Amino acid sequence: MLEIKALPALSDNYIWVVKAQGSDTVAIVDPGEARPVLQYLSEHGLAVGAYLITHHHGDHVGGLDDLLAEHAAPVYGPRGEADRIAQITDAVAGGDQFSLDFLGVDFEVIDVPGHTLGHIAYVTPGVLLAGDALFRGGCGRVFEGSHAQMQASLARLRALPEATEVYGGHEYTQKNLAFAQTVEPESSAIATVIREVDALRANGEPTLPGTLAEERDINPFLRWDQPDVIAAAEQRAGRSLTDAGEIFAVLREWKDAS
Ligand SMILES: [Zn+2]
Repeated sequence: MLEIKALPALSDNYIWVVKAQGSDTVAIVDPGEARPVLQYLSEHGLAVGAYLITHHHGDHVGGLDDLLAEHAAPVYGPRGEADRIAQITDAVAGGDQFSLDFLGVDFEVIDVPGHTLGHIAYVTPGVLLAGDALFRGGCGRVFEGSHAQMQASLARLRALPEATEVYGGHEYTQKNLAFAQTVEPESSAIATVIREVDALRANGEPTLPGTLAEERDINPFLRWDQPDVIAAAEQRAGRSLTDAGEIFAVLREWKDAS
């Protein structure tokens, strides 16, 4: 049984601390800064067994040097970005599996290009460490890849078991859901999650993780094949859309402009 703790970092990032129940060795996911991690480790008397990196952006790797200076451990990261993340010791790519004995679990790596070209996600049963590929109610911007590539990446994530909890890299949920509601104003599922999320934020609590089951119901970027979403995208584009990548592109550009 894994315990996964969110450490807020920078303006709206989450650094995830992954721990097996009863253990004092943890994995640190996407440390964009060192300070909150160092403080948490020392407060709880924890050691680092590994770092897991999803992509090269500074708000996901910026804390590595200072952390490694005090807590040396293997750094898993995307093979496709190993030239941009000097600290990687274990470069991995889609289809790779590795086990972290201190957690008692195996991870599988999924390629999710789009936000960056080498972006990877880590999956262990029940848990998806999604980086900036998938957020609660939204997805990352397409910076390096094509929209078709990003849509194919999200299709891979959507195919995971629906009970999977999604640990994304940012607290963007309220803005994401506002956009989701623009796309599907009649959705009661979105309205319900907005109420839940507003209550969490009012208490200063993270809104992540969500589950894939919920994401399939509320996240427009996982709903390219739903009639209401297609109709909204077609209205936005002013033409009929048949290709999933095209529908995704219209939604993503709509969100970027909103
Ligand atoms: Zn990023």
